[in-house]
Amino acid sequence: MPKIDLEQLCADKGLRITEQRRVIARVLSESEDHPDVEKLHERSSAIDPRISIATVYRTVRLFEDAGILDRHDFGDGRARYEPAPEAHHDHLIDVESGTVVEFVDPELEALQKQIAEKLGYRLVDHRMELYGVKIDRERTANTSTTAHEGDTAR
Ligand SMILES: [Zn+2]
Repeated sequence: MPKIDLEQLCADKGLRITEQRRVIARVLSESEDHPDVEKLHERSSAIDPRISIATVYRTVRLFEDAGILDRHDFGDGRARYEPAPEAHHDHLIDVESGTVVEFVDPELEALQKQIAEKLGYRLVDHRMELYGVKIDRERTANTSTTAHEGDTAR
C-alpha cells in the first residue's frame, strides 16, 4: 500500500506537532507491519530516548481522534496502528506468524454493499478481517512447487 505522510496530515489538520510527535508520526509512516504501542515506543525511543510509552499512548490517541490513524484489533487483544489509508483495504492475519496481509477485492466490496442494502442500510464503513494459516508449508512436503514468498508481503 502507498506510504502515507502522517506529518503532512498533521499539518493539514492543524495539529500542533512537537518534536516527539514528529518522531512518532515518522515511525508510523515508515512502519509496514501495523505496530502496537510497545513496538512504536521501541522504534521511537531508539530515535529519541526521551519519548516515553505514555507519550506514545497520548500521541496515537490524538492521531486517532484526528482521523489520521486507524486502530485495529487483530484478535490478540492488542491495539495495532496504521496511518489511515486513502484507499480502503482489508486484512488477512496469519495466526501463526502474526503477519498481516492487506488486500482489496472489488467483488467482496460490492457484496457487502448489497447485503447492507438488502437489510435496509446504506453502507458507510466496514471492517473485514480474515484469520488463516499458511498452506504452502504443508503442500511443499509432497509437491515440487515453490512457495510463494511474495504472498506475505504487505
Ligand atoms: Zn492495513
